[in-house]
Amino acid sequence: MSSVIEEKKINADTSQPFSEALVVGAGFAGLYMLHRLRGLGISARVLEAGDGVGGTWYWNRYPGARCDVESMEYSYQFSEELQQEWEWTERYATQPEILRYLEHVSERFDLLRDIQFNTRVQSADFDQNESKWCVETSSGQTFSCQFLVMATGCLSSVNTPHFEGMSDFSGSCYHTGHWPHEPIDFTGRRVAIIGTGSSAIQSIPVIAEQAKMLHVFQRTPNFSIPAGNRPLEESYVQEVKSRYPEFRAEGRSQGFGIVDPFPPSAHADPERIPTRQEVEESLQERWDYGGITFLNGVPGLTTDPALNELAADFVRRKIREEVSDPEVADALSPSTMVGCKRLCVDTNYFSTYNRSNVKLVDISQSPIDKIVPEGVSVSGKVYACDDLILATGFDAMTGALSKVEIKGREGLTLADKWKEGPRTYLGLATEGFPNLFIVTGPGSPSVLSNMVQSIEQHVEWISDCMVYMKRAGLVRIEPKFDAEEEWVTHVNELADQTIFPTCNSWYLGANVPGKPRVFMPYLGFPPYVEICRDVADSEYKGFQLA
Ligand code: NAP
Repeated sequence: MSSVIEEKKINADTSQPFSEALVVGAGFAGLYMLHRLRGLGISARVLEAGDGVGGTWYWNRYPGARCDVESMEYSYQFSEELQQEWEWTERYATQPEILRYLEHVSERFDLLRDIQFNTRVQSADFDQNESKWCVETSSGQTFSCQFLVMATGCLSSVNTPHFEGMSDFSGSCYHTGHWPHEPIDFTGRRVAIIGTGSSAIQSIPVIAEQAKMLHVFQRTPNFSIPAGNRPLEESYVQEVKSRYPEFRAEGRSQGFGIVDPFPPSAHADPERIPTRQEVEESLQERWDYGGITFLNGVPGLTTDPALNELAADFVRRKIREEVSDPEVADALSPSTMVGCKRLCVDTNYFSTYNRSNVKLVDISQSPIDKIVPEGVSVSGKVYACDDLILATGFDAMTGALSKVEIKGREGLTLADKWKEGPRTYLGLATEGFPNLFIVTGPGSPSVLSNMVQSIEQHVEWISDCMVYMKRAGLVRIEPKFDAEEEWVTHVNELADQTIFPTCNSWYLGANVPGKPRVFMPYLGFPPYVEICRDVADSEYKGFQLA
């Protein structure tokens, strides 16, 4: 972090414990929330557990960490000057580059003076008489505010499975989601990594180049598409910048909020079922292009299991072509539908298994027995390692919210209210918790969209709502029970028409033992935006205002 940022952090003014809005988290969401509220004349401050801005991009510093949404899209669009002036260097930005971008944003918009770092929010109580939130941090500091905005991120609370003997391990242990700040050199070391989700799929090829031996412990294989990462061509950057608003609008018009590089021709008949040959050609074109829009390769891929199988089979064939040992290729080939777990995007992932220093340990049938001082034990066999990496993911979407003891009306805690699964209205607010807003909460497109775009849409909706209330002299807003009930049903009905709930994904909370199995994201960015707009235009229907 630059010394200018260090200096400004030290100068942050924390002498006024009341602000109209208190924002928890200084990632993409918290930073824009602060900037927007300030611009609208609403006093705000941000509390952040980390020692710097960045949120998920502050914590996830593992080797190979980069975004799987292209950098020209994975960036703010609220400031035309910012999007024109900032220079991304690669098609997919690395974690250090995204962090530099967010540090630049916080300096450029002078945000640091209202952010208090190293401050973990422990509890928040709603005072019914005053219609205010009283917030306490883990160091006992207290704050009060009219509006509490949880900008705590969807993938910020790490999932650390319990393995017997973990504390006896004699080597070093790391979690990809909470990586040390100093670089770790694995040269000449024996490394074990547990998990084969996006984080592992990005880090395995990089670690394999250093380590003497790398054992990968895989419980479930994942589909992954080559990223096709490369330095950004100046001509492409200039082309996008010459029509940035239009480019952003193209993204907003797509189901996942991401620009489709191969949009269907305006003359194409959407009802016509493509031939097998056409499907194959389309998938090949997208495979060669690289990236997450592979899922758009077959219209209906996320709703029709038969069409999905064509794409799944396509990827399995690619894995067999890339991995020289057929048994390893089989073990790396998922049997699930493609896309039902978050699709991974990689650089040289499958071919890394052709290296003599990389071994896949299939634990699908016999799980890890325990961790012993020397390494990882599976079916009585010990895989010795000096370093153990947990790439075991997150308590997604609800984890960071449930960690804070949030008490709403009548002393009800959020954790209690959500014990059968999260319930929200629009993913923005939850009944029983007045004046509490969630940025990209469960029930909003969030993780099934370009996160930055979804964050901006939420921040704008929430801050506009605060302005509306202020102008109308209103002090309290809360979803109505029926509106929330209908929304939860709607989110689930949409998901049930797709392949998304068909496997054990973190979208369903299935990765965390004991977590209720509820599909959390809302499917469809454009209709969601329309619904939010309609709610605001009709004076916040579905909400109770006082
Ligand atoms: P993840 O997708 O949840 O993967 C966790 C891995 O750990 C899975 O392979 C899981 O196996 C395994 N695992 C968990 N508990 C285990 C246990 N007790 N024993 C053995 N294996 C266990 O987590 P992630 O890789 O950190 O990615 C999470 C999400 O973060 C991604 O889906 C993506 O949305 C986001 N992300 C994005 C990027 C990017 O932008 N490029 C990079 C990294 C992450 P099972 O599948 O069997 O549960």
